[in-house]
Amino acid sequence: MHAFRFDAIDLPPEALAARRRIREFLTSEQKRRDFVSYRNSWNSFDPEFSRRAGAAGFIGVTWPREYGGAAQSSLVRFVITAEMLAAGAPCGAHWIADRQSGPQILRNGSARARRDILPRIAAGECYFAIGMSEPGSGSDLAAVRTSAVRDGEEWRINGQKIWTSNAHRAHYLIALTRTGEAGPDRHGGLTQFIVDLSRPGVTVRPIRNLAGGHEFNEVFFDDYRVADDMRVGGVGEGWRMVTSELAFERSGPDRFLSDYRLLVEMIEHLRENPDPRQEIAVGRLVAHLAALLRMSTAVAGLLERGENPALEAALVKDVGTAFEREIPEIARLLVPVLPSFEAGEPFAEALAQVMLHAPSFTLRGGTREILRGMIARGLGLR
Ligand SMILES: Cc1cc2nc3c(=O)[nH]c(=O)nc-3n(C[C@H](O)[C@H](O)[C@H](O)COP(=O)(O)OP(=O)(O)OC[C@H]3O[C@@H](n4cnc5c(N)ncnc54)[C@H](O)[C@@H]3O)c2cc1C
Repeated sequence: MHAFRFDAIDLPPEALAARRRIREFLTSEQKRRDFVSYRNSWNSFDPEFSRRAGAAGFIGVTWPREYGGAAQSSLVRFVITAEMLAAGAPCGAHWIADRQSGPQILRNGSARARRDILPRIAAGECYFAIGMSEPGSGSDLAAVRTSAVRDGEEWRINGQKIWTSNAHRAHYLIALTRTGEAGPDRHGGLTQFIVDLSRPGVTVRPIRNLAGGHEFNEVFFDDYRVADDMRVGGVGEGWRMVTSELAFERSGPDRFLSDYRLLVEMIEHLRENPDPRQEIAVGRLVAHLAALLRMSTAVAGLLERGENPALEAALVKDVGTAFEREIPEIARLLVPVLPSFEAGEPFAEALAQVMLHAPSFTLRGGTREILRGMIARGLGLR
């Protein structure tokens, strides 16, 4: 039986200093670039913003200096990412590379991959996509069929990925491939490779999302050749890599702050003359947010201590994304304004934006049912 580890964490002085620095940076970026907070989330792609964030030292902050990092703690990184989301900064270009691909390469990539790729990510100039899901293999990643076959010093990849966010504008993706037999526990025979999306043998086709936008894609591999030193981790170790990477993917503030700006716009709307029902609803949401903030900070603390936060990360994502989905439902009941992109009104636009994206919050990065299965197992219930 596993107990959840959500210890209260006092942010260290360097994290508080980082919060001051990132707030100053975001205020000056907002003035300079005039980004509209309620239009952005961590899927808003703005290479110029990412380049400036990299130059100011806000990407790859936990990585060693030799790879362009700032050798800071996970708590410093936590504060920086939370502030970017809270400000509605267009931070999507570097988000996945900073959150999970870079840390994966740092821990399990070859010397060449670390040397060539990490400094470019930290500079905000190199973006990654995640090549895990396939048609017929989303929740059940062990069923991946895209194959990689060894050919001398290279591998040849054939197959298809789906729902690949940003593949049309990223430089690389990390592909989970089948290189051998699955074995009795179904988790064997999987290997990850860094795929350069500019090279021949890989084709990216758009899929439109519910909002009509182009964020994710299908990706096809047709005898794509990749050098062995672009392998991430050992041959057959893909399952272990992916599960540890998903802990990074699931634990952060991006799992409860995706629609934070709608909460802010709602409070702005109600500020002047709230009735008791509105006060109670807003108070409840803000208390919920405070609890999530504490839980997610505790996961950053586990990462900092080198402990595996997979179980706690699954819980934060499940509770956090349920919170994200609740915000638009409560907002539309409390504020008598219809969602609209044309009204020229921040609340109406934020609500329209969030309503079209919210269904995906509890799917991307692992569905609720899968997370709850993990939590039940962690608690010894199955
Ligand atoms: C906005 C968005 C962005 C995404 N970006 C990426 C990306 O960049 N890279 C990438 O690789 N993937 C990405 N995905 C894919 C995402 O990870 C998958 O959609 C998700 O893992 C679910 O897989 P699936 O769609 O195949 O659904 P399925 O696995 O077919 O699941 C269908 C339903 O069955 C339920 N279910 C499945 N298995 C079980 C079980 N064992 N027990 C109980 N219930 C179960 C699920 O919870 C779900 O409700 C993205 C998805 C979205 C929505």
